[in-house]
Amino acid sequence: MADDLFKKLVSHCKENGFIYQSSEIYDGLAAVYDYGPNGSLLKNNIKEYWWKSMVQMNENIVGIDSAIFMHPKTWKASGHVDAFNDPLVDNKGSNKRYRADVLIEDYMAKIEAKITKDVVKAKKRFGDAFDEKQFRETNGRIIERQQKIDAIAARLAKAMTEGDMVDLKAQIEEYEIACEVSGSKEWTDVRQFNLMFSTQLGNIAGEEGKLYLRPETAQGIFVNFLNVQKTTRQKLPFGIAQIGKAFRNEIVARQFIFRMREFEQMEMQFFIQPGTQKEWYEHWKETRMKWHLALGHGQEKLRFHDHDNLAHYADAAVDIQFEFPFGFKELEGIHSRTDFDLNQHQELSGKKLQYFDPKTNENYVPYVLETSIGVDRMFLATMSNALVEETLENGSTRDVLRLPPSLAPVKCAIMPLKRNNEELVGKAKEIYNQLRYSFNCMYDDTGSIGKLYRRQDATGTPFCVTVDFDTLEKGVVTLRHRDSMEQDVVPVEQLESMIKDNVDMKHLFKKL
Ligand code: ATP
Repeated sequence: MADDLFKKLVSHCKENGFIYQSSEIYDGLAAVYDYGPNGSLLKNNIKEYWWKSMVQMNENIVGIDSAIFMHPKTWKASGHVDAFNDPLVDNKGSNKRYRADVLIEDYMAKIEAKITKDVVKAKKRFGDAFDEKQFRETNGRIIERQQKIDAIAARLAKAMTEGDMVDLKAQIEEYEIACEVSGSKEWTDVRQFNLMFSTQLGNIAGEEGKLYLRPETAQGIFVNFLNVQKTTRQKLPFGIAQIGKAFRNEIVARQFIFRMREFEQMEMQFFIQPGTQKEWYEHWKETRMKWHLALGHGQEKLRFHDHDNLAHYADAAVDIQFEFPFGFKELEGIHSRTDFDLNQHQELSGKKLQYFDPKTNENYVPYVLETSIGVDRMFLATMSNALVEETLENGSTRDVLRLPPSLAPVKCAIMPLKRNNEELVGKAKEIYNQLRYSFNCMYDDTGSIGKLYRRQDATGTPFCVTVDFDTLEKGVVTLRHRDSMEQDVVPVEQLESMIKDNVDMKHLFKKL
């Protein structure tokens, strides 16, 4: 069922010009995708919502746009050269490559699925009287399975934190995990695999000229910390925001745009006085959750998930997880990064990265609170929340993309009632030419009105304007609303302000 939903979402994205497989005519390139005409508009709107909510709505947050290529020492300092690894394992039967931690996580998910099955069965049996919490806490089989999951999770976290590849292999063997392709339980040793893509400068041979495609945008912010602070005269606490491409050589590439090799991040580093990280951590957790909820994602679709194993740079970390069609998964990370990055860059560059605090008359390296979200994952979350198949009163169905109006690719479609009537066509084009100064709209006369409405529903257009004979005689049009399908008669001169007000992003900002 969830699988069907996901398949539907993927094909909807393709058929309606949102997302295509990259290089499709050459059978595609795994985990790389292109955004089509509607997709790039929606993606830009998501980025605008993030950017403005950070940079425009906060006096103490400024934005930058740093380069993808950075001095190679950056990645030594950040720890990516030595520690940005995933544990890789090959199955001897199929030669298929897996992430060892993902194999173990999938194994835990299978046990979890058994628990869920028991719960569903019991629910059916006991009906309204069923108390799920009590059942989970008292049923012997469930308790045993839950304990097993907890023990595996703890052991996995320990092995991951300590980089213990031998234990990861031991776990795969102990749990008798088999390859999904060959069924074989024969595995190679687990080894670390660095996720950074590298390339070579043309004018410098060998290691010296080795460059990396950045695996995160954050480091471009850290190395510019003093430049930005000095040129904008910001005082702590203040933040630097950035949106840009990042690249990771992911071993397991699946679930559409959830895990890509080339993707985009929206990251904000908030520089604070050491010792204040706990309160800022709570502040940004709450602020970021509000940002998601303002879009109308139901509370039940989002949850916090504390990290089991902390990254080398963090003293606290939490994910905001979203319920994708394939389950709750990380959408955004909020990390308390201490002074790790700035200290490291100080050490390797030999340049001071300190802040003079006029309040305390002290120089110190600030602490950092980071919020980091993938644009593409946000796109997937937005699409999966918005796409609904509705059954109408007459029994027919329609696919409607209930996007928040300010995120919709096209805000209004203008169509003449009859496409072979010159006067109606002329008037519709005139209205279209007026409205497009204010927002993105389109003219369409390539089908019957009913068909054109459906087409706009599928791409999330909040308004359709039909130009009919009343428009010519009385100066009024029919304004049709996407979600309710209600139709109002509206004077042409009021259209622009009505639609403009409705699709304005300020409605989202006011909820923050
Ligand atoms: P995961 O555990 O899913 O690999 P991560 O913890 O490595 O993610 P971060 O390094 O915290 O991710 O990156 C911040 C955000 O960037 C993530 O929350 C996610 O939205 C996005 N992101 C990370 N890797 C990818 C990817 N391969 N494809 C798309 N988005 C990604």
